[in-house]
Order: sequence, then structure tokens, then C-alpha cells
Amino acid sequence: MRSQKQPFKKQPFISNKRHIACIGIGSNLGDKLDYCERAISKILKVGHHRLLARSSFFKTEPVGYLSQDWFVNAVIKIETELEPSELLRTLKTIEAQLGRTETIRWGPRTIDLDILFFDDIQIQTEELKVPHPLIQNRKFVLIPLAEIDRQFLHPVLKKTIQELIEKNSMVDQKIEKL
Ligand code: ADP
Ligand code: MG
Repeated sequence: MRSQKQPFKKQPFISNKRHIACIGIGSNLGDKLDYCERAISKILKVGHHRLLARSSFFKTEPVGYLSQDWFVNAVIKIETELEPSELLRTLKTIEAQLGRTETIRWGPRTIDLDILFFDDIQIQTEELKVPHPLIQNRKFVLIPLAEIDRQFLHPVLKKTIQELIEKNSMVDQKIEKL
């Protein structure tokens, strides 16, 4: 039997690849919860972003620079069409829009937006390090991440979020769900 020619199927033009990113959100100045909520809604307005998961909000004790107020922290997982450097630029713009000004490292800020994971890729440039290098030491990141997906495998450390929590290389810190 002669093979029938398949009609040529036109593929829709896919312009942008979709990625999955986890973003850490933190605030410890002013109305912290409101800053976090506003940051999330701003993030979701750009880059064809789609919210895939969102942790609870947590009240967390400061680490690093201790003489400052407690933080509110959360983690979101989004689908994005932006490339990592574009996502970083977007997050910095949102930080600026929400009144973040330069202060001391790890010091008080209205909003801090960090890229924790971006697909399972690794980036090591001056301006962007992915996965974020301090994930495994930060309870205020691991606990919210565990709520989203405790079986997620850290692409560099090759351990799940659950295993990273059990390994306990986290800086001691009080943390409570809001
Ligand atoms: P931190 O989040 O450690 O408290 P900052 O928010 O002040 O510090 O960020 C300092 C710089 O860290 C930013 O200007 C940014 O270029 C860089 N950076 C490196 N990796 C990342 C990342 N994964 N997410 C966000 N910023 C990053
Ligand atoms: Mg930051």
C-alpha cells in the first residue's frame, strides 16, 4: 500500500520559551505584609507570568544583621517567559518601585526579591547567582519552599528541599507562620 502523504501541519510560532522560577520575597520595613502582597501582584503583571504556587507568609527573626525588625517572608513559584537576566532586572525595578533604597547588606528593606531557582540551570555571574547560593543556610527560604514542593531537587546540591532541611545547615532562626 502506498503511504499516504500527511498534510503539512503548520506549527504555531512559539516565540518565547517558558521557564519555571522560584522567587523569595522578604520585607522588614513599614507594612511588611502589604509590601510582600504588592510585590507579588506586580510580579504577576509582567512577562506573561503565571502563579504556579505560593507559600504561606512567615514572620522570621533577622539573621546576618541582627539589630533590625523581624521580616515577613514567602516564596512563590511562577511560569515566566523572561530569561534570567530579564527576570532579575524586572525584580530590581519592582524593588525600586516599592521604595527600596540601598542600605547595608542584609539590612532593613521594604522589599527584597531574590531568584532562588530558575528551571534547573546554574548561573555564576557577578550580578546573578542561580540557584541562590544561600538557600541551604536560610530557614526563611527552605521552610516556605518546603510548603510549595518538598521533593524539589536542588540542581547543584542534588538534595531535595526536605533533605536540605533535615541536613540542618541552616542558621538558627525563629520562624512562625502568619
Ligand atoms: P541580599 O538579597 O543578599 O540581601 P541584595 O538584595 O542587596 O542582597 O542583592 C545584592 C545583589 O545580588 C543584587 O544587586 C543582584 O545583582 C545580586 N544577585 C545575585 N544573585 C541573585 C539572585 N539569585 N537573585 C537576586 N539577586 C541576586
Ligand atoms: Mg536580594
